[in-house]
Amino acid sequence: MNVIERFLKYVSFDTQSDENSKTCPTTAKQKLLGAELAAELSQMGLQNAHMDADGYVYAWLPATPGCEGVPCMGLIAHMDTAPAFPGVNVKPRLVEYRGGDVILDAEKDIRIRADEDEALPRYVGQHLIVTDGSTLLGADDKAGVAEIFTALEHLAAHPELKHGRIAVGITPDEEVGRGADRFDVAGFGAAVAYTVDGGELGELEYENFNAAGATVTIHGLNIHPGSAKNRMKNALLLGLEFAGMLPAAETPAHTDGYEGFYHLQHMEGDETTTVLDYIVRDHDKAKFEARKETMKRITAYLNAKYGEDTVVLELRDQYYNMKAQIEPHMYLIHRAKAAFRKAGVEPREVPIRGGTDGARLSYEGLPCPNLSTGGLNFHGRQEYIPAESLEKMVEVLLNLVQAEER
Ligand SMILES: [Zn+2]
Repeated sequence: MNVIERFLKYVSFDTQSDENSKTCPTTAKQKLLGAELAAELSQMGLQNAHMDADGYVYAWLPATPGCEGVPCMGLIAHMDTAPAFPGVNVKPRLVEYRGGDVILDAEKDIRIRADEDEALPRYVGQHLIVTDGSTLLGADDKAGVAEIFTALEHLAAHPELKHGRIAVGITPDEEVGRGADRFDVAGFGAAVAYTVDGGELGELEYENFNAAGATVTIHGLNIHPGSAKNRMKNALLLGLEFAGMLPAAETPAHTDGYEGFYHLQHMEGDETTTVLDYIVRDHDKAKFEARKETMKRITAYLNAKYGEDTVVLELRDQYYNMKAQIEPHMYLIHRAKAAFRKAGVEPREVPIRGGTDGARLSYEGLPCPNLSTGGLNFHGRQEYIPAESLEKMVEVLLNLVQAEER
């Protein structure tokens, strides 16, 4: 199977994950694709190809003779699609792109608009795989799976191409933040790895946010409004006061690149009790710590003003920037850049404004930068991937695993 056939086959499986599920994988249907993937790896001749009870698929390709001493490299992708948009009954179409809008559904006038899609003009003359406008496509991350598998199949069939041992791991539930939860890092056996789960061709990511959640609980004092003078402490108004003391321009709506933020994502209450839920994000560890300190200082100030324990702040660190874990292994980045350039693609380092499973694995001892898949507009009906990008990424992965050691 070539990479395009493979990709089209995988997107025909509905593998939507579910953030409200307590099971692993969060949806049993992911295991249907998982079983298929394990069977394919086994047919290609990989070793120990299997899906475990949690729906994780693992296998490895032995080193070619003479390369047994090369550290094992892992390649990781995820099979689930985002809960945010339907992923059942995907009807992919391959269209030759000649410029202008791409019409997905003529009747409902659903299209990818050239004037709203900054990347689209770069693909004039290429072949885009698009949806019919009613579902997402699933290039996130079935493109990653198809690219890794096609590269492995090529290597298994061409023993003259020299490489160390290569481990492959396909996870469920990445889109609901649980892809790394039950990843068997020890059993995987790789010294280093790459996730193939990024966006446009050439993207290379190894920096993500440091992340914390903050819950601010305000304990007010409710008195009949007719006799409340000098006595009522309205928790709702105190909540607004707290929010108003945070820097107004440091929100997601005012920041990009390496700029961090405070994001109020939920607020609920009455005069007696009001709760504000924040997420706090910053790539820079010192600035991240300073943001948490700012919230503590506001809490202390309001407690001095209104009485002890009026405001209770609870901070929880969620994940950290993987850069600190990648920096001792910068050859991973140099090697990825060389692999892109050898395929004629100029690599671009992009800071992730979020987290990744690779970031979590990096903190579990498996340094794990993220490579592009070539897909665009993830998690929606306008998702697409140029067929040429799928093919390029196979070439990039082949360059990567064969690249000179350090
Ligand atoms: Zn993804």
